[in-house]
Amino acid sequence: MDTIRVAVIGAAGRMGSTVCDAVEGADDMELVARIDDGDDLGDLGGAQVAVDFTVPDASPGNVAHCISRGVHVVVGTTGWTQERLDAVRRDLLEHPEVGVLVAPNFALGAVLMMRFAQEAARFYESVEIVELHHPRKVDAPSGTAANTARMIAAARADAGLGPVPDATEHDPDGARGAQIEGIRTHAVRMRGLVAHQEVLFGAEGESLTIRHDSYDRVSFMPGVLTGVRGVVSRPGLTVGLENYLDL
Ligand code: NAD
Repeated sequence: MDTIRVAVIGAAGRMGSTVCDAVEGADDMELVARIDDGDDLGDLGGAQVAVDFTVPDASPGNVAHCISRGVHVVVGTTGWTQERLDAVRRDLLEHPEVGVLVAPNFALGAVLMMRFAQEAARFYESVEIVELHHPRKVDAPSGTAANTARMIAAARADAGLGPVPDATEHDPDGARGAQIEGIRTHAVRMRGLVAHQEVLFGAEGESLTIRHDSYDRVSFMPGVLTGVRGVVSRPGLTVGLENYLDL
């Protein structure tokens, strides 16, 4: 079995340091560089794959550097806009052998929750999403909740379902939550929580709740390691871990 040489960018951070531990614990990987803010990326310690968990303003530059050096990249940093992804695609034209995986959520259960919600969507007239996170989170709703809403909306449209029934006429304080492509999405911020999401489906006389809970950031590591193993043989840009899971 070939060992994959891995560099971690954002290595001093909460996610980055957990990734360093996971890479060091994997039999088929070698951690060759721990890089953080202010360090020179250089040749990334001779890495084949770089893992980026930094900040939205730094990540695109790091990815561009890796691509220019022919290093595959697994990106967990959030905040990737369509424009930024398009820039990655353009950079990859010059280096078509390089693989880049951008995954907004590396928790396998979260990816499965989204897939199961997409499957269930066409069978239920009503659906709402509740995402629950720690109070330090600065954006709402979570990217995962917004993605789930878009996937459900697309599945409903394909099935010819109309709007979710809702007689609300008066909601001055926004009690009914945000609407993302017609799907009501609610954000809870609470001390003690990590990252959680429920998708509630309803039909006459029944309901189905699909719930995922991340209790610890180690929950992201199997997905990150799957990304590292997969990215070396998947050239081009892939968005979403689900594309590596053969679902
Ligand atoms: P953090 O603040 O603990 O860590 C970020 C690290 O990046 C810090 O050590 C910081 O010094 C470093 N950094 C900043 N700029 C840098 C640069 N230019 N070059 C190198 N290093 C730089 O944050 P965190 O909780 O570890 O989260 C990191 C990112 O991962 C966030 O965007 C977060 O939303 C995201 N995240 C994604 C997932 C997922 O499953 N995809 C899961 C959790 C967190």
